[in-house]
Amino acid sequence: MKVDLHCHSCVSDGLLSPSEVVRRAAANGVELLALTDHDHLGGNVEAAGIADELGVQFVNGVEISVSWMDTTVHVVGLGVALDDAGLQAGLAYIRSGRDSRALRMGEALANIGIRGAYEGAMRFAQSSALVGRAHFARFLVEQGYCRDVGTVFQHYLIRGKPGFVDHPWATLAEAVGWITGAGGVAVLAHPGRYRISGAELIGLLSEFRRLGGRALEVVSGADDEELRRRMAHHAREFGFLASCASDFHGPEESLVDLGRMAGLPADLDPVWKCLGR
Ligand code: AMP
Ligand code: MN
Ligand code: MN
Ligand code: MN
Repeated sequence: MKVDLHCHSCVSDGLLSPSEVVRRAAANGVELLALTDHDHLGGNVEAAGIADELGVQFVNGVEISVSWMDTTVHVVGLGVALDDAGLQAGLAYIRSGRDSRALRMGEALANIGIRGAYEGAMRFAQSSALVGRAHFARFLVEQGYCRDVGTVFQHYLIRGKPGFVDHPWATLAEAVGWITGAGGVAVLAHPGRYRISGAELIGLLSEFRRLGGRALEVVSGADDEELRRRMAHHAREFGFLASCASDFHGPEESLVDLGRMAGLPADLDPVWKCLGR
């Protein structure tokens, strides 16, 4: 079965509407899809409706921003109830910090001579509660500072670069708690992409499992085979279910299209087994 359990719409920092995401996934042959916008559930109803029309199985999703040690990690929630008050309140609380962070990013970029970045980023975002680094990156590409979004991140937006602003997101315990409280499965997103040591990753996986996290994105985006092998090993070691994720944001920006990732190693238990299908 072709499965993609992590992607974005313009509700957060994707380029397509929720409907366009589902249509594209269906055209790519995806049979089971989850939409996982950052810190927001808003695209799920529209996506589920179109998925139903097109005969694509759909799972409600979200990707929660978490501060862990000195880094940011992401926890995907799959199969969450959209009307869960605890999850809704938690996500609203996380979103409430985005505007002030963006204002500070604008000031930080102004300090190195890049004017109007906050207003510029806001032209690419749907609301100030959802403005993020990808919207700043699109503005900087538009202004000719870099040739593509990835280069903007490298030079301006990752930790240690002039446009980076530290920000407290949810704790790992909060994110897992909100997801499981809403009846969902907590999945650690793109575990191979964090800039942490091997020992720290083991610490993260242990804590995530202890808190109730159940799955790992063994396949994520354009990760290479070596990385997939390492994450598959961690899934076996910790007894995590395995998820399969494009982390698609848009046709020109993402290296991997919806549903076009590598498959899961056959011996792993896929996370969709426990998603009620
Ligand atoms: P934010 O939640 O505002 O910190 O933005 C995080 C988002 O930025 C991620 O979900 C990606 O969409 C994007 N992003 C993070 N790092 C990179 C990178 N190195 N290259 C391209 N996009 C990135
Ligand atoms: Mn994103
Ligand atoms: Mn992510
Ligand atoms: Mn993502």
